[in-house]
Amino acid sequence: METVTLNNGVEMPILGFGVYQIPGDQTQEAVEAALAAGYRHLDTAASYGNEEAVGAAIKAVGLPREELFVTTKLWIQHNPTGTVEDDTRRAFASSLARLGLDRVDLYLIHWPIPSRDRYVETWKALGRIHGDGRARAIGVSNFEIPHLLRLFDETSVVPAVNQVELHPRLAQRDLRAFHAEHGILTEAWSPLAQGAVLDDPAIVEIADRRGKTPAQVVLRWHLQLGNVVIPKSVTPARVAENIALFDFELRDDELAAIDRLDAGGRIGPDPERFAG
Ligand code: NAD
Repeated sequence: METVTLNNGVEMPILGFGVYQIPGDQTQEAVEAALAAGYRHLDTAASYGNEEAVGAAIKAVGLPREELFVTTKLWIQHNPTGTVEDDTRRAFASSLARLGLDRVDLYLIHWPIPSRDRYVETWKALGRIHGDGRARAIGVSNFEIPHLLRLFDETSVVPAVNQVELHPRLAQRDLRAFHAEHGILTEAWSPLAQGAVLDDPAIVEIADRRGKTPAQVVLRWHLQLGNVVIPKSVTPARVAENIALFDFELRDDELAAIDRLDAGGRIGPDPERFAG
């Protein structure tokens, strides 16, 4: 698996397996199948309710820990009664316990939730977790440029990653340019737009011409933009298909045809307004 080097030197596999909306009782099997298919990067979150099952799969498969890259995310609403520091430490410790790990490779603030105005203090708390060595890298998710600018102004640590909704209908050009300027890796969630872009004629045409599937074409577009992708599937053939991306390259005109599908259309909530 190819990797990208994050701004703190940590190597991150450019493709991972996302487990959002996989029911708890199917997650262990799905993750074991993904690891058997060659995935080495797993993306979960406290709010997905399946960290325990991800941990059980990791344990059952028994790969050397250093061969795996595990991301989880802080649900900032977790126990929001204490200090930000206490809430964050408690939530992080709970995630580690559920995963059965003593460290994660990447810990993200799941949403900024500007209405609560806790994300700057939360980011400082993540910095201390990173300092303790229990998260090899730290980052954010669903942060927009103004939220990132506040972190720059009020703290001294630049996020290694910003994981955001990104697919051909929401190409996030400005945010990607901002990330590139500041050394933040762009990670795409719902990289396939949850399947909604796979019957788009422009994508189907490229797929047919290249003898690839629409999903492979979309994921390849991401990789050529420099995005890390974390597609989700519980269907074995799709799990295998979504990782078989390294034997072809899209041409510039093919990339441009996909770029033209950008309509600013979100599947998920607006990060500025989302309140958890
Ligand atoms: P996705 O774009 O990965 O789409 C998944 C869906 O696409 C599947 O359920 C299936 O219906 C279809 N699909 C997958 N592979 C296919 C293939 N080869 N052919 C045809 N159809 C296929 O969407 P997602 O699951 O929402 O996002 C992926 C991951 O991103 C999640 O599992 C999660 O880890 C992460 N995520 C993060 C956030 C966040 O707020 N940080 C939000 C949503 C998702």
